[in-house]
Amino acid sequence: MEDADQICRVYFSKPGLRIHQRPVVNAVLAGENVIGILATGGGKSLTYQVPYMLSTGITVVVSPLIALIDDQVNGLPAALRESTVILSGDNGMLSKSISQAVVGAGRCLIYTGPEKLSHFIRSQTLPAPVIRLVLDEAHCVSEWGNTFRDAYLLLPTLWEQLGKPQIQAMTATASESTLNDLMSMFPVSFTVIRSSIYRSNLFLTAIEHQATEHRDNHLQMLIRNRVGPVIIYANSRSYVDRTTKWLCNLGLRVEGFHAGMSLTDRGEIQKRFIAGQTDILVATIAFGMGIDKSDVRHVFHVEPPSTLEDYQQQVGRAGRDGDSSWCVVFDTMNKRRHRNDALRSATKLAQGNDRDSFSYKLLLRKHALERFLKLGGCRHNHLMVYSGEAPTKRHCGHCDNCCGR
Ligand SMILES: [Zn+2]
Repeated sequence: MEDADQICRVYFSKPGLRIHQRPVVNAVLAGENVIGILATGGGKSLTYQVPYMLSTGITVVVSPLIALIDDQVNGLPAALRESTVILSGDNGMLSKSISQAVVGAGRCLIYTGPEKLSHFIRSQTLPAPVIRLVLDEAHCVSEWGNTFRDAYLLLPTLWEQLGKPQIQAMTATASESTLNDLMSMFPVSFTVIRSSIYRSNLFLTAIEHQATEHRDNHLQMLIRNRVGPVIIYANSRSYVDRTTKWLCNLGLRVEGFHAGMSLTDRGEIQKRFIAGQTDILVATIAFGMGIDKSDVRHVFHVEPPSTLEDYQQQVGRAGRDGDSSWCVVFDTMNKRRHRNDALRSATKLAQGNDRDSFSYKLLLRKHALERFLKLGGCRHNHLMVYSGEAPTKRHCGHCDNCCGR
């Protein structure tokens, strides 16, 4: 029988599993329910694709974004693609494709969003047992479950309807509360496997300016001195449009990206950035999940993101090739005051509320971000402690506070 490393070599042209992938794959192959927290760029997909190739039956991968699914499936080796079905379109036809894969390969890898999965299994019977349910970008279960992706709340029911298969939940960021949300969703025990989130090639800086003009001047200076591709994050579409226009006027190869654009436009913009035809991408949070561009050298936030989880995800898109990269989050005094006033009022109002409620936990996440921004100590250490890791060094040498800026 083939083993995991052989699968890596034969089908994925990789020398073998990487050090962080191995414990996850071993636990999955041992039949355990696994929550795997692998740093961005740690190769999460391989940790369920390799076990898939070593199993018979159906593996269902629930992923939050169709664009992300398309990218992943397009990148699959031919041997896997042949038995892979994306749940999109007519249910009858999909059923037929799944049966063909099961007959031909003895297995089928189904990629789907939670909504479509629910819709599909209401009307169709699967031709073989589902042996594994994979939750990709599993932090969405917690962050989105109670907001605009109600379908994530269906996951425990869907899991039962699929015959209570093994669960493999993969994410790049999971604070203790996200982890607890995930674990309390399913009545099974999980093995939690966490690789360190510490990325020594990322230089983290947070800067507060008195006024937006100072911030813009500073950003402009950093952009002029850039050494490679840049992602600039902003929280609103209007801010993205304004920043894109401003940088365009400076003669830079820049494009904007946000959820108000059509899927086709977004796909094209993304492709141009990945291909290096655009140097700078100004984006909302809508950009980046599952994007495979290894040489992003700078991630700038023109304003702080909403939570520390968002921050971690977004800076995690820099330097996936392991080379030095720079992440700067800008803030302005007025905005910070307004934010903190609003946060104080919301926290006061929430006193006495259910501490397990989503809104209460969101407040805690916002407080965590504010603490990170005005922190005097090591930023990497702060992120590690927030993610439940023990900090390894007092001074990392890779953040503004440790280097005295
Ligand atoms: Zn540090």
